[in-house]
Amino acid sequence: MRKLPFDRAKLEEISAKWPTPFHVYDARAIRENAKRLKKAFSWNKGFREYFAVKATPNPYIMKLLREFDFGSDCSSMAELELAQRVGNVGESVMFTSNDTPAEEFRRAWELGAIINLDDITHWDFLYEAISGFAAKVRDEADTRVFCCRYNPGPLKGGNAIIGKPEEAKYGFTREQLLECYAKMRDAGVKRFGLHTMVASNELDPNYIIDTAKMLFSLAGEIHDELGIDFEFVNIGGGIGIPYRPEQKAMDLQFLGDGIRAAYEELVTGKGLGAIRLYMECGRCITGPYGYLVAKVRHVKNTYRLYAGLDACMSNLMRPALYGAYHEIVVPGKEDSPVTSVYDVTGSLCENNDKFAVQRVLPLLERGDFVVICDAGAHGHAMGFQYNGKLRSAELLLEEDGSVTEIRRAETLDDYFATLDFSSL
Ligand SMILES: *Cc1c(COP(=O)(O)O)cnc(C)c1O
Repeated sequence: MRKLPFDRAKLEEISAKWPTPFHVYDARAIRENAKRLKKAFSWNKGFREYFAVKATPNPYIMKLLREFDFGSDCSSMAELELAQRVGNVGESVMFTSNDTPAEEFRRAWELGAIINLDDITHWDFLYEAISGFAAKVRDEADTRVFCCRYNPGPLKGGNAIIGKPEEAKYGFTREQLLECYAKMRDAGVKRFGLHTMVASNELDPNYIIDTAKMLFSLAGEIHDELGIDFEFVNIGGGIGIPYRPEQKAMDLQFLGDGIRAAYEELVTGKGLGAIRLYMECGRCITGPYGYLVAKVRHVKNTYRLYAGLDACMSNLMRPALYGAYHEIVVPGKEDSPVTSVYDVTGSLCENNDKFAVQRVLPLLERGDFVVICDAGAHGHAMGFQYNGKLRSAELLLEEDGSVTEIRRAETLDDYFATLDFSSL
């Protein structure tokens, strides 16, 4: 059974102040993991992780990650604003969007973000979106960085969540990349990056190492054809976490060493000059270190045994959305025999509102705490209000054991905030 950074007594104490359900993040574990990641890539001068804001869009978490100089990977207006408000601007922001509105390109440009294009037509779109773009590109060539997102299509095998690259809506073909970088070069751009994102929740380090190899080779080929130098290669996010008990966390040191070997062969060995390695992971940065804490509200015995919680899929949608597995721990009953098989549900009027199906657990009683693990990324963030369900609070468990509220729970007033009953 998973080891938690709190016990039942601690949860009693926390829930006296913040009633369940709530999300709680373990600050110490997030820091230790961030250190491991940086150490694994310390061989690369300028290595940087841009935290994918969409995974956990909370400014307190982003600020904590800034202790490790993590930038922000943003793909919407709200995410750009969040980044700016925690102090990530300029090259600390990677703007990796798709189907992008003009105003988001304008805001990203204003903030000095690295602009990572998803499509060849977006280069021309920038001339429409940003007034005086042509002159600005020339005048600010020393500070402006442009990047393109490569989609290798059939050259790269798929992965379960993100699917096959050739069926994915993202990125440029190889021919389009060459054409776009040539256009940029001719427009006066001097600073370039190259990006791809072909993995999601991938646990095999060799898949990520192969992705890095693909980008290093491509950077060399584009350099040879167009005479441009790449400052960085961004291998995207998608490093997985072991949701299931039989899975193993990716060995970050193995990953770092593998990418180092590829770098030495394909970058240093080809005389390409120093290229910084960037990544934009979300899940592996916070995922394992966040927990959804709920209580058993009702136990129901019909054709199956149901444990109904005070949380529902609006607090954590992954099980309902992808049939994702999340470990469940019942604090205080860690040593109890696992004797019963439950569907662990929420109260939403959707039958797929289940955190677990036919899960073997200790005997559950009303009022038991139920902790759903690995909810720290793409958890609270995916919350929604369907069926009048409200998003819960987010709490940070600090290293000294104290707890900080980093987002309050929603109230009915929040739910009604967009309605004007006075003109009814
Ligand atoms: C979602 C996303 C990420 C983060 O993915 P993880 O699986 O959380 O690591 C990174 N980059 C882009 C462009 C994304 O859309």
